[in-house]
Amino acid sequence: MLIVSEEVCQEVVGRADAFGAVEAVFAAMAKGDAYNFPVIREAIGHADALYGFKSGFDKAGLALGLKSGGYWPGNAAKGITNHQSTVFLFDPDTGKIGALVGGNYLTAIRTAAASSISIAHLARKDAKVLGMVGAGHQAAFQLRAAAEQRDFEKVVAWNLHADMLPKLGAVADELGLPFEAVEREQLGAEADVIITITSAHEPLLMADWIKPGTHIACMGTDTAGKQELDPALMKAATVFTDEIAQSISIGEAQHAIAAGLISEADITPIGDVINGEHPGRTSDGEITLFDGTGVGLQDLAVASAAARLAEQSGKAASISL
Ligand code: NAD
Repeated sequence: MLIVSEEVCQEVVGRADAFGAVEAVFAAMAKGDAYNFPVIREAIGHADALYGFKSGFDKAGLALGLKSGGYWPGNAAKGITNHQSTVFLFDPDTGKIGALVGGNYLTAIRTAAASSISIAHLARKDAKVLGMVGAGHQAAFQLRAAAEQRDFEKVVAWNLHADMLPKLGAVADELGLPFEAVEREQLGAEADVIITITSAHEPLLMADWIKPGTHIACMGTDTAGKQELDPALMKAATVFTDEIAQSISIGEAQHAIAAGLISEADITPIGDVINGEHPGRTSDGEITLFDGTGVGLQDLAVASAAARLAEQSGKAASISL
């Protein structure tokens, strides 16, 4: 079996690789060729940790496996990342383990790929201002990936903890994009594309603040109880997602569904747009919204790419079990 370390993943998997792998698996999911198994996530009663598995099988890409990991809040004090994960890939023909792949960098790059795929397929072509809500670990990856999808001329940003914004501003600077910290209402008034990537449990953006034609990638809400948007914004928008089952239970749509503002039938898998089964945006004034919940198949897709690229470049270690 191959062993691909975190460092090697960073060396061999670029944003374009992640975009291609995740776009292909979203397309396969919408065709019924790839499916996620039920997610397991448990408080283990030790070190305040949450631990679990995300798994699935992509028949089209022949990726079978799982991502195992979770959240250890005490890690930062030990100098390591609170979120920890590892991907295990198996040979779908024999069940033998194929690769063990570090999952931390891959989680960030596959999540950024998801929102950038939504921008590529749903945002107006003439989008000029990118709005960032959130400035944590994921936000820098999100900004870099989004910046490649449209000819943005400016980034406006808001974060609850304002002291985190300069770090995101430095990323914008590297990309040659002017960066301005603004209040949320102004962000809504200016931005053509908005990414939300926070741990919020209450609406951060109200429906009245968002201008017609905006595309929103809502990426932070991945657990029951988390929330970033006014449910009325979901009602006003055309809603797309990675997986409907997750969108309505742990994604942003959970709140609009609970309030009776939208139903499951109002949500379209983004794979349908990728496959040409749904037109996506149909007018310049339409608000489009991608509810990115994060599925195990995304992890398997980028881990498969990592294993392939690491093997090709001679950077994977190999052992027999
Ligand atoms: P982080 O801890 O590095 O950053 C957290 C961010 O949320 C910061 O910007 C912080 O200021 C902000 N924040 C914290 N509490 C808040 C509150 N009550 N109101 C508003 N903002 C608040 O975390 P991260 O790794 O950047 O992850 C951000 C979010 O994205 C998390 O909720 C995480 O679970 C989620 N996530 C989603 C996916 C997915 O596939 N959709 C993948 C990875 C992470």
